[in-house]
Amino acid sequence: MNASLNSDQDMTMKIFTHHEFDHHEQVVFCHDQNTGLKAIIAIHNTHRGPALGGCRMYPYASDEEALNDVLRLSKGMTYKSAIANLPLGGGKSVIIGDPHRDKTPELMRAMGKAVDQLGGRYIVAEDSGTCVADMLLMGELTPHVSGIAEKCDAEGNCRSGDPSPMTARGTFVGIQAAVAHRLGKSNLDGIRVAIQGVGNVGHHLAKQLHDAGAELFVSDINRTAVEQMVSELGATAVANEEIYDLDVDVFAPCALGAIINDLTIPRLRASIVAGAANNQLAEKRHGVALAEKGILYAPDYVINAGGVIDVCYERNHLAQDHIIKQVDAIADTLHEIFNRAEAQHKPTFELADRIAEERFAS
Ligand code: NAD
Repeated sequence: MNASLNSDQDMTMKIFTHHEFDHHEQVVFCHDQNTGLKAIIAIHNTHRGPALGGCRMYPYASDEEALNDVLRLSKGMTYKSAIANLPLGGGKSVIIGDPHRDKTPELMRAMGKAVDQLGGRYIVAEDSGTCVADMLLMGELTPHVSGIAEKCDAEGNCRSGDPSPMTARGTFVGIQAAVAHRLGKSNLDGIRVAIQGVGNVGHHLAKQLHDAGAELFVSDINRTAVEQMVSELGATAVANEEIYDLDVDVFAPCALGAIINDLTIPRLRASIVAGAANNQLAEKRHGVALAEKGILYAPDYVINAGGVIDVCYERNHLAQDHIIKQVDAIADTLHEIFNRAEAQHKPTFELADRIAEERFAS
């Protein structure tokens, strides 16, 4: 354990005994007086390789809230990279501040310097509140940044470092795997899918599902995003609160965390929950409740790993077609989880955790 702290002893005690601490290898508090940078970098586990994880910028109400978030998210990255068989550990960083008000190029460069001081143990990428342009600024001060390269496939179609299309692709093949397992169907023709949130990931996912013949129902607090899906894909617009009640095959959360909870589970009529949102289960017991209700749950960090696969192999300069193959392998991992969960009468999230832990054990 190597903790770098610039705070007092009380704070140290709260960290080691923090309920989200879970054997973190390193937690670094970063401050830069000139730019006002206040950030925390958490490295949970590096047994498989350097800790890669996004940098979130958010106006946290307190330092404690920021610490809570970074510890929880960095542990999640260890599980996500391990289950995706990536040569990476888990880490995350948070910048305390409002991205609309407090973000400056100097602040991003200061964050790049803080990342650099870890010598490659932590690799930063974009997350909510940060974007490709911010990563480019950090990249002026450190080589340990990902999610920035332009990528082109064999047909010459190019895109920026944004990993969302790969996250959507992984979610799409994950839905295919879940439908094959639960409904015994080898294609998505006529499958009814409710998508909650058609932002960066959700709208790419909707297009792929539409092309595969699925019938779409979409909700989003952003009306324009919904209207685009209605006009482009013939999707049915659904009021935000009604998305849980639909008579569909698949509920695909692509917006918020904690949407699988005591209030929503009794309302769900879908036989599959499979979407890109992080931390879908409000608590682990809700994964048990889904299984008891006979709903097949594709664990979030397994099905949404397309983005981390993308940023990982961007650093290894792997060709786009190879990255796609790795992303498509998410379907194989899900088949393994579904089959083992069924054979052992366990909820799928438990099996996913077990497989990930086997893979990142030292
Ligand atoms: P995004 O912000 O682009 O899209 C989220 C969408 O959800 C927005 O259009 C927003 O208006 C909508 N939304 C917010 N609250 C809502 C509500 N109550 N009901 C319906 N819609 C609501 O984010 P994104 O990049 O598309 O990511 C979506 C989810 O997937 C997030 O949970 C994110 O953490 C997760 N995720 C994203 C990636 C990635 O590559 N972008 C990777 C892994 C996981």
